[in-house]
Amino acid sequence: MSLVVVGSMALDSIETPFEQRDDVWGGSATYFSAAASHFTEVQLVAVVGNDFPEEVVSFLEGRGVDLAGLTRTDGPTFRWKGRYAYNMEDRETLDTQLGVFEHFDPELPDGYRDAELVFLANIDPDLQRKVLGQVKKPRLVACDTMNFWIEGKLEALKKTLASVDLLIINDGEARQLAGEHNIVRAAKAIREMGPERLIVKRGEYGAMLFDGDHVFVAPAFPLFDVIDPTGAGDSFAGGLMGYLAGVDEVNQTTLRQAMIAGSALASFTCEGFGLDRLRKVENGQIKERIAAFRALTHFEELGDAALSTVA
Ligand code: AMP
Repeated sequence: MSLVVVGSMALDSIETPFEQRDDVWGGSATYFSAAASHFTEVQLVAVVGNDFPEEVVSFLEGRGVDLAGLTRTDGPTFRWKGRYAYNMEDRETLDTQLGVFEHFDPELPDGYRDAELVFLANIDPDLQRKVLGQVKKPRLVACDTMNFWIEGKLEALKKTLASVDLLIINDGEARQLAGEHNIVRAAKAIREMGPERLIVKRGEYGAMLFDGDHVFVAPAFPLFDVIDPTGAGDSFAGGLMGYLAGVDEVNQTTLRQAMIAGSALASFTCEGFGLDRLRKVENGQIKERIAAFRALTHFEELGDAALSTVA
């Protein structure tokens, strides 16, 4: 199944308690495509300015990503600056410069319009809808967003949410969007806004899928070294959607498998700065990590005799 993504391609400035770097290759669409490309061909919709490194474009091309939907415009590329707390989890956005995104008017190439899966990565919700409106009859539309848009463009975001099947969002944003501190209650409130299914990303605690009456929890891989978690969420979404692009049906079984594929890809992203690790990961390593996830979550039945006889 074909998979279209619209999102940012960016130059990031990232500060962790241990390292600081500028001009790091990033953006939601970049991480998403790099991760998803391990499962399927991705058709990318994004805009970059004339300061964007050609090396990133060649890397994505090398991974088989279709770049017919990539626009290059005069002006500065989108820039994001963030700082991580000591737990390498909480982060603060220090600056967001929309640059060429401000006047981006995405026009989908003809070859993209029959896409069966669409991922609206984290960008202006009006742009997300503009892209979605050009896809004929997608089977699954998933979407991400962040506090920047929840605070700045809530009404536009709600319109987007009304037409998506799956929202993938982090726990802080879920609480903020729903106005509920409890995640299970927040999930209910968010699903009432439109998305039938919801995935709540919880950083080092993994991710929760709310699907019908079912909840599935995937752990995050216990890593010795988390170098930079930037892009973990987009890599998770890329692994998840990329995997789903290859299955016959999106159902509870395949969604659970996809959660693990996403978690595996996200774990590689955290092991390097920016795209440093993700861009080098090989299929064999992904396979091994998925097997490790299986071992991590498997347990035998406890049996009737396990409980004390004391009532
Ligand atoms: P993640 O860590 O998965 O949430 O993704 C981080 C990436 O999202 C960074 O590479 C940023 O360039 C990009 N990003 C941050 N803020 C925004 C925004 N407001 N719109 C679009 N992309 C953003």
